[in-house]
Amino acid sequence: MNARISRPLLTLFALGLAAALVSSPAVAATAAKPTAAKPAATKPAAGTAGAKTPASDDVPFWTGNPDAATFAKRQEDRLVKAKAAIEKLAAVKGARTIANTLMPYDEAQIQLDAAAAQTSLMENVHPDSTLRAMAEEEDQKVSALATEISLDRRVYDALSKLDVSKADAETRFYVERELRDFKLAGVDKDDATRARIKVLRDTLVKIGQEFDRNIRSDVRTIQVNSAADLAGLPDDFIASHKPGADGKITLNINYPDYVPVMTYCKNEDVRKRLYMEYNNRAYPKNIEVLDRMIAKRGELANLLGYPTYADYITANKMVGSSKNARDFIDKIVAASGSSADRDYQVLLQRKQKDVPGATGVNFWETSYWSEMVRKSDYAFDSQSVRPYFPYDEVKQGVLDVSSKLFGVTFKRVPNAPVWDPSVECYEMYDNGKLSGRFYLDMHPRDNKYNHAAQFDIKTGVEGRQIPEAALICNLPGGTPGEPALCEYNDVNTFFHEFGHLLHTMFAGHHKWCGVGGIRTEHDFVEAPSQMLEEWMRDPATLATFARHYQTKEPIPAATVKQMNRANDFGKGLQVRRQMVYADLSLSVYDRDPKKVDTTELVKSLTKAYQPFPYVEGTHFQCAFGHLDGYSAVYYTYMWSLVIAKDMFAQFDKNDLLAPGVAKKYRDAVLAPGGSAPAAKLVENFLGRPFNFNAYQAWLNEAN
Ligand SMILES: [Zn+2]
Repeated sequence: MNARISRPLLTLFALGLAAALVSSPAVAATAAKPTAAKPAATKPAAGTAGAKTPASDDVPFWTGNPDAATFAKRQEDRLVKAKAAIEKLAAVKGARTIANTLMPYDEAQIQLDAAAAQTSLMENVHPDSTLRAMAEEEDQKVSALATEISLDRRVYDALSKLDVSKADAETRFYVERELRDFKLAGVDKDDATRARIKVLRDTLVKIGQEFDRNIRSDVRTIQVNSAADLAGLPDDFIASHKPGADGKITLNINYPDYVPVMTYCKNEDVRKRLYMEYNNRAYPKNIEVLDRMIAKRGELANLLGYPTYADYITANKMVGSSKNARDFIDKIVAASGSSADRDYQVLLQRKQKDVPGATGVNFWETSYWSEMVRKSDYAFDSQSVRPYFPYDEVKQGVLDVSSKLFGVTFKRVPNAPVWDPSVECYEMYDNGKLSGRFYLDMHPRDNKYNHAAQFDIKTGVEGRQIPEAALICNLPGGTPGEPALCEYNDVNTFFHEFGHLLHTMFAGHHKWCGVGGIRTEHDFVEAPSQMLEEWMRDPATLATFARHYQTKEPIPAATVKQMNRANDFGKGLQVRRQMVYADLSLSVYDRDPKKVDTTELVKSLTKAYQPFPYVEGTHFQCAFGHLDGYSAVYYTYMWSLVIAKDMFAQFDKNDLLAPGVAKKYRDAVLAPGGSAPAAKLVENFLGRPFNFNAYQAWLNEAN
């Protein structure tokens, strides 16, 4: 086991360009590994809820509504059980068997998974600060134990001696993959090296926390003289930004200010000033933190026998090597050239109408002129579709579409134990049998995770426990009596995250926890989620639930087509921006750390891939959180998108809700979870290895 502890997958880093262009929204915080939960610990504490204690592990995980101490105790119990299982495995004398070795090993996985997932979830969502702090503390203990086990020679030796030649394919794959990941973790190194690895990993956790903290805590502002400087912004924005005592209006660099200002504000100077602050978040502090992170990771990779950290981290990904990741980026860059050029000419020509003689477009102008293009060339105003997307209808629509596609039913569970009264619990039934449970925590709340993500709660294990997971989003709604109208991107986010959730639900029925859930290669996890977004673009699908909140008219097909065209504008430029991020992510880790100058890299990559000139004095890399969490593998998003486009091409565009292909997809790709290599699963579905054709067609399709 390679310390596969819940690490949220971050949202695509997409604000370099027009905010609403390409629909690659929020990304799941799916743990790179799933979880599994535990019985005794999940049983209700005495006297809670008046419920009798079910015999199975299928009770909702929040049963008993634990306080901080009870919550901590549950996690501590899990760690004790995980350790006991490992000791039991280590103590075996004589022949290694699946029963005396793999079973206790998987039991440890079940315990660690549940603890990791639930501490990660609670530190991000629980309304009580004491419980959140407790969850953080427990999370650190879980990470420490996972690292310790990953370096435990006794466990590795035990698994190596296991003869699985006569076992089923899943069991063989499980053991093979674990042995590989133990080696990647450094288990076969000598004592001194392993001790150093442990120190480096612990240090890197702290460096990562420092990097993230600097980003979170640096909220910069600018001031403008009066509301006249905000011309072009919506009235409700201006109304909520009143002048202070000195008559000046303050704007900050968080999304709710930054995105509208960059998109609508007519005053170029205001946009430019806010752009400069946004692109210096966590500067200069994080320049040094980043250098330290890169250096320590380089040292860790060398200790583990790899020339660079990029070589190390890609070794167990679909892409397979740092060189392949580099080739992939080069290929996408080449494929997006003509599309990006075309987009740029449209932007420049639009600017020239208002600014005769303009010779170029600057970064702080891209969102603004993109919005102008959408209005003039596509006659589309994003505000016009909101009335068709009241939150409650959208929610029911996502459930109904999924139900129809995949042949399952969803039932709301009234009065289920939840961490906040606004959270809804649903159960999934497959052929009448309870087969999963999930929670929708969909609206903003103080101190709650502020992006969009799917969090694991526990991995399903057939015959023992059903999968549980949660969607944590920040969509309109939650206040009774309000229509809660969603934006196009909100609906897209819901479909995206639900794609992750279905993956978790369908993949939670294996006999081993260690191959269940989204335990697939990290560069595959965004494929099922990005593919489900396609249904949001289908007029017939939208007409089944998107009805005007006043007239109840379904959204007209013509409007959906117009919306799709307008939202497609700029995809070539957006892909190129993504390649700046992907190349930067790879480049800071694929060479000698001493030769890495992050600012110089940003400059040269911007020049190579984008028509907008690099702006002197900016340092976006300081707030590029993925450089910690994703390290060298930011290419993941585009890699998954290539596969998603190929898989989606198998569906009948004239009848997207037809169940045949969906059933095949569910069985071949989603249900297997981590029981086989992702490339194999995709090949089983397609009948051939995946290729670039569908992606390329999408990229070049004129809109
Ligand atoms: Zn995602």
